[in-house]
Amino acid sequence: MTDTSEVVHKNFVRNQIQEDLANGLHTDIVTRFPPEPNGYLHIGHAKSICLNFGLANDFSGKCNLRFDDTNPAKESIEFVESIKQDVQWLGFNWDGEIRYSSDYFQIFYECALELIKKGLAYVCYLDAKQTRDYRGTLKEVGKNSPYRDTTIEENLNLFKEMKAGKFSEGECVLRAKIDMSSPFICMRDPALYRIRFDHHHQTGNNWCIYPMYDFAHCISDAIEGITHSLCTLEFQDNRRLYDWFLEHLERFNQPNRPHQYEFSRLNLEYTVMSKRKLQQLVEDGFVSGWDDPRMPTISGLRRRGYTPAAIRDFAERIGISKVDSMTDMKILEDALRDNLNIVAPRTMGVLDPIRVIIENYPQDSIETISAPNHPQNESMGEREIFFSREIFIDRDDFCEVAPNNKYKRLSVGKEVRLRNAYVIKAITFDTDFDGNITTVYAEYDKETLGKNPIDGRKIKGVIHFVEASQAVQTEFRVYDRLFLTENPGKHDKFEELINPNSLVSTIGFCERNMIGAELYKSFQFERNGYFCRDKDNDEGMLVMNKTVSLRDTWSN
Ligand code: ATP
Ligand code: MG
Repeated sequence: MTDTSEVVHKNFVRNQIQEDLANGLHTDIVTRFPPEPNGYLHIGHAKSICLNFGLANDFSGKCNLRFDDTNPAKESIEFVESIKQDVQWLGFNWDGEIRYSSDYFQIFYECALELIKKGLAYVCYLDAKQTRDYRGTLKEVGKNSPYRDTTIEENLNLFKEMKAGKFSEGECVLRAKIDMSSPFICMRDPALYRIRFDHHHQTGNNWCIYPMYDFAHCISDAIEGITHSLCTLEFQDNRRLYDWFLEHLERFNQPNRPHQYEFSRLNLEYTVMSKRKLQQLVEDGFVSGWDDPRMPTISGLRRRGYTPAAIRDFAERIGISKVDSMTDMKILEDALRDNLNIVAPRTMGVLDPIRVIIENYPQDSIETISAPNHPQNESMGEREIFFSREIFIDRDDFCEVAPNNKYKRLSVGKEVRLRNAYVIKAITFDTDFDGNITTVYAEYDKETLGKNPIDGRKIKGVIHFVEASQAVQTEFRVYDRLFLTENPGKHDKFEELINPNSLVSTIGFCERNMIGAELYKSFQFERNGYFCRDKDNDEGMLVMNKTVSLRDTWSN
């Protein structure tokens, strides 16, 4: 699904930077990541974070973290804090202090005065509908506002009155005077300031006029000496406005002023990627919160057991381009598997247990066995596991009669090796009233601990197990795609497309050492997939989130 041209275009920003350094336009590279604190960050933001911080690292430059906080109504400190945490967790450090667009409110105001004084901005009283009608369409040029020719003097007074709170919300706006017949609608006298009597999380009630994104963003970039301002493709037309503002503001109109470059946003299959839609999932209770392990948020991925290295590797694999595409979930999960295969310690867990009684094992006896934490990495050490007369195995690993010769699990009369322990043979079993198997009776070969049977019998299969007396009862939460369709975001009622089986939970058993497992650190549960410990601990029960399966299950 992913466009192969991504590979070809991978370096268009990098090329631009190299060119700008080579011809002396810039000596140092400064980028920024500019989130609006109106939600939690998602994997799309991670693409932008890895790009901006990554370029700064590669070119020994700097990257700022700037909160684009010009819309107090939707923003909050909770979001500011979560964003800081997510950026750091991904492994990046911003240059110096955190910045806020709101730090520059006074400068934006002065810039607006400068434009008014140059006859390039005016106060306009058209209401929302009138403004729309005057704006025109892609096919039809716009009409000049009747307020376009107010004198500079009067505009200065009116704007100061706006700032002083003399007008009500929506009564008027400050607009740039550009060109109502421009083929780019964003150039048809865009608004610069609107009135809002909201409390702002940084500036309190100091201001009742707030700048629009296009006006505030380029000026913030210029103040911070950003060299390459990277944003997503939907701002392509707005680049003209970005340039227009900086070219018409005396102090910013320098040859080395910032320039904007656009790349395509990340869209991931089977999920939504806009903060507004994610917020709706949270508020309407479709998920347990912004950090629900099914959410594509960074906090959701962290809780699911993703590692920062896997997410950075994913960003590298998808590269950047100017082609809009849908990215296959497999690419994200492959990056994760490749990382976890190396870093995740091995352990055993039984998700859907049946009891096995080893009839020839001594009563009241338990032995400890040392098992490697990683088959290819001795430095990860060993752990203690247990073996006794009673163990649990997964229901899937037993059947009464082996269906064919290739069957490599346990069946009556057949032998199988228990991972890290002995060879056992099933003798018989019990069922409940519904015919479900409850207990399997087996015998073990006591000469087979870490050895093949002495008589040369070949044991084909290996299954995992957990010793019963030391096992820790555990809730396993197994996740599937959150939505049933590939691109739920394009449907109006996307919430109707939620996968009802996106979370299935079972009660099973873990090895005892999972009691001390670090939150969100993934382990490979042999043969069952990667899992990590969740923060939930209902009535003291251990909860394990399935991070990802051992192999890709999306393509079937
Ligand atoms: P959303 O539409 O999800 O609310 P946004 O663009 O409004 O996202 P911002 O907080 O304004 O969110 O974004 C901060 C930065 O992250 C911007 O530079 C934006 O271009 C980038 N970004 C946001 N979503 C994506 C995405 N899906 N892929 C790549 N970059 C993204
Ligand atoms: Mg936004």
